[in-house]
Amino acid sequence: MELTTTPERERHAKALAARLSGRVVVDGTLRPALTDERFPVENPATGEAIGMAARCGQPDVERAVAAAAGAFAAWATLPHRQRSTILLRAAAALEAEMESLACLSALETGNAIATQTRGEARTMVDILRYFAGFAGEAKGKTVPLTERRFLFTRRVPVGVVGAIIPWNAPLMQTTSKLGPALAAGNTVVLKSAEQAPLAVLRIFEILQGILPPGVANVITGFGEEAGRPLAEHPQVRKVTFTGSSAVGARLLHYAADKIVPVTAELGGKNPNIVLPDADLELAVAGIVQGLRLFRQGQSCTAGTRVYIHAEVYDEVIRRTVVALAAGRMGNPLDESTQVGSIISREQFERVERYVAIARATPGARILTGGARPDDPTLKNGYFYLPTLIDGIPADSPVCRDEIFGPVATVAAFTDFEAVLREANDSRYGLAAVLWTRDLARAMEFVDRIEAGFVQINQFSVAEAGIEYGGTKLSGMGREMSPESMVEHFTWPKTVIINYGTPGI
Ligand code: ADP
Repeated sequence: MELTTTPERERHAKALAARLSGRVVVDGTLRPALTDERFPVENPATGEAIGMAARCGQPDVERAVAAAAGAFAAWATLPHRQRSTILLRAAAALEAEMESLACLSALETGNAIATQTRGEARTMVDILRYFAGFAGEAKGKTVPLTERRFLFTRRVPVGVVGAIIPWNAPLMQTTSKLGPALAAGNTVVLKSAEQAPLAVLRIFEILQGILPPGVANVITGFGEEAGRPLAEHPQVRKVTFTGSSAVGARLLHYAADKIVPVTAELGGKNPNIVLPDADLELAVAGIVQGLRLFRQGQSCTAGTRVYIHAEVYDEVIRRTVVALAAGRMGNPLDESTQVGSIISREQFERVERYVAIARATPGARILTGGARPDDPTLKNGYFYLPTLIDGIPADSPVCRDEIFGPVATVAAFTDFEAVLREANDSRYGLAAVLWTRDLARAMEFVDRIEAGFVQINQFSVAEAGIEYGGTKLSGMGREMSPESMVEHFTWPKTVIINYGTPGI
């Protein structure tokens, strides 16, 4: 099908949405869920329902986990090169459908195809392909003991992995869970986010032509109803999660009762600091990119606490405001749109709540944004202008909480020590960025900043091969590296062979 015009893309995505409605992918087949309950999936750019998703609960979880458990032994013992080959074919199959998946994801998330979902579809493929190449890397080690005794370790796949993902970048979230789990020899049941279940369903449908039945299963539904029974299921031996810190904590509780490990990639309130000697052009572009303008700020690595040295403050703010205003807002499926809509009414109202707190704060100023766009064609969607606010005290919830929308605080500083202290004075510890040409200052920042993902003179995102994860409330565990695959998706078995040392 041609997907060259906006109406063609829309028709295509809507047809897929209708076909996938009420389905799950379990044991190799796209099929109706066991539950008859459904909930609407919305196009957040228009407020229209585009399909219905199954409101799965315990019975659907049971069926999916049983399928994954049944597929485990054969998948785990498949020679790793065969697993690699299959996963490479799976990546190629997704690659062939990138454009279609980008359309469907744009329709249900409000992320623009031109600036977000198309690139994300590419990342989705890259991640799966990258981990496919590491299927043979789940290796143990040998350790010297005494003469005639040989110690080695083996890495053993954990079994059924329960994966729970959010809605902000569902294409790449799916393969960042599937890639390492499957390459290491596990089988997976994934629960998609209730706001964005359809493109994920389509990914799993595509994979079924290639993976053995039961190796990768997906269910849809809400957190407490579907996510919780999945995380608590006795046969789920590992939970991997991306989402809010509050839900991450819940999952640790569920897993605690059965002593099962959890990887948790959680929220952030990330500092982005501009020193006066920085290349200001780069820094301004980095502030805009850091705000995740093209994802409406809905990213856990978003640089939402911006600190700019007083010497360059006015200049940087002036240029940033201009750059933010240049982002064209519109229908996410339109090729000329750069900025789409917020995911849901709930998130939209959350953004409005925090902006209202800012408005009521004495001394605070909204430098840009703080409202919906004027464009009447956007009035039914959850569009919100990128917003910069200054004069917010460091202890205000606007400066402390993860808003998860297109809102950042900005503040001027003069003292590096003080700004470093303020940057670290957060419950979160995910990303942190510094703009400077001073190597010593940069290294000082690297040494002392409390964050898992630190960048100097760039504000990029995690990708295959760049290990990613946070500290403090931002979570535990790492993703995107072969080491994290081994650490989180296998367990070590220590073996000692005594071939002639008696009396030990
Ligand atoms: P966000 O704030 O990004 O929506 P959440 O942490 O609320 O993130 O949700 C991320 C994922 O976690 C979603 O798939 C959601 O359904 C799931 N989830 C929410 N609550 C629970 C829960 N109590 N148990 C398991 N999963 C949950």
